[in-house]
This record gives sequence, C-alpha cells and structure tokens, in this order.
Amino acid sequence: MRASKKAGSDGSTQNSSGITHISGAEGLFESTDIQKIAKEYIQRALHHERGHPDTIVITIESLKKKPRKISTLPLATLRCDSLSESKHFVEKILRLLGISSCAIQAADRIIQHGNMRGASIIHEKTAHRLEHNRMRGVRVSRFGIQKAAAKKLGMQLSRLGIHTDTVTEALILASKVASFKGVVAELCVSDDPHYTTGYIASEEYGYLRIPRIKRKRSRTGGRVFFVKDGTDTVSLTQYLERVPVLVTRLAPFRRTVTIDEIQDRHNL
Ligand code: AMP
Repeated sequence: MRASKKAGSDGSTQNSSGITHISGAEGLFESTDIQKIAKEYIQRALHHERGHPDTIVITIESLKKKPRKISTLPLATLRCDSLSESKHFVEKILRLLGISSCAIQAADRIIQHGNMRGASIIHEKTAHRLEHNRMRGVRVSRFGIQKAAAKKLGMQLSRLGIHTDTVTEALILASKVASFKGVVAELCVSDDPHYTTGYIASEEYGYLRIPRIKRKRSRTGGRVFFVKDGTDTVSLTQYLERVPVLVTRLAPFRRTVTIDEIQDRHNL
C-alpha cells in the first residue's frame, strides 16, 4: 500500500515531483486474508500522523516462488535517556560495526532530508550512495511472517509492552534486510512525527530499538542500509524488492541493554 498527497497545503517536506509520501505498508498473506488486510491498510493510510492522502494505491500480486524461510533478529531496547545520548550511541554502535564517520554523516544527512519512499544504500567505508534511484530509494517488499510465528511474536512483544504494527513490521523488514550477506547494518528513523523510537539492525547486535532518536513532531525520517565493499547492489535490490521471504522462527528477545553491554560484547 502506498499513500501520498500532492504538494502544498501544510508545508511538509516533499520530493522534487511535488508528492509527499504519507504512508506505506507491505506483507505476505494467505489469499483468504486479503480483504481484511486491504481494509486495514486503507484505514492506516487514511489515519496517518503525516496527514490525509489524496492517493492510495494498493497492489496485490500472487507469489510465483516459494518464500525463503528466515528467523527474526533478536530484539532489545537500548537504554537511552535523551536526544543527545541517542545521537552519541547511534554513532558509537555504527562505529563498532566498522562503519566510517563519513558514511555515518552521509546517513544522517539522508535521514534529516527525509521524504524518500524507500531506503538508501551506502558503502560502509566510502559513503558512496549505491541505490539506483536516489529519489525513491530501494523499497523492501515481499516479506511476511507465518501465522504461528506471528502469534508467538505478538505474545513476546506484548510482554515488553510494544506489540504494535510498527514494531512487528519493522522487525520483519529488518530481518529480511540483514539476511542478505554484505549488509552490515540498517539505520531507521521513522518519519511519523509522533514516533521517536528508531533502530539499528545488524547480524552482530540484532534489532536494537533506540528511544529518543529524533525530536517529537519532526516529520523527517528515513532508512539507510550500510553495505560492505564489493556488495552486488543489483542482486541486493532484487533480493529486497522481489524475493519473497517469510519469518518462521523467532530469535530470543531481551528487555533492555546498555551501551556498555554492547561495547563489552564487542570486546569479547
Ligand atoms: P517508517 O518506519 O514507515 O516511518 O519509514 C521510515 C522511512 O523508511 C521512510 O521515510 C522511507 O524512507 C523508509 N521506508 C519505509 N518503508 C520502507 C520499505 N518498505 N523499504 C525501504 N524503506 C522504507
């Protein structure tokens, strides 16, 4: 589902075609659930914090291939008390993952600018942008979760008090992204003005939720995938956009972790 509106009325950020992205959602579902899901997506598009759309596009396609089965990344929330602390921790964690300062700065600029529909791909050392279409970015699609795993995930997230569509979908998306060899990390800041928890996802540290990653009421946000030298970005884009991937297993969750615990793990 993709919801957008034409330029103008509220002064929000927009891309050079004058279109403001409002909301988007993807998933893999049983054919018997399509009507219910389409209705939920329409509701979501019509009641988004970013505003009221004038266009909603829903595309439904049958799968031609069996999905690849993956596990979620382990989830934890980083203890983090302020905006400045979160900025400092994000930088620290990305540096621990081997990402260069200039790549971190490039990611920050992309996220501050906002209003892409998809994600940017950045070389982890040189900071070169590698996505084919810089305005749109790479749109991760064709990911879902098996019903039994979804039920279990719902219970685990409820125990942590974070059982929402936002967390569930972001965790599945991030697990698909991290399952491509060559992706070192993903940094995500939501463009929802009221949702200020972002994340860094990586094979190394799992899915780390980062509270207070942006100021309340800020409409900017974005996603960046940092990749290793030599990563075939055509294959990566094809995998993220076209290859169906289904979560069938869950990795263990932890409630909160501190930056020291992350650093200690790195030094083991
Ligand atoms: P959200 O977490 O939905 O608020 O999205 C934050 C940012 O991530 C958006 O502004 C887009 O740039 C990007 N994004 C959203 N959905 C996707 C997706 N399916 N694939 C890649 N990037 C996305």
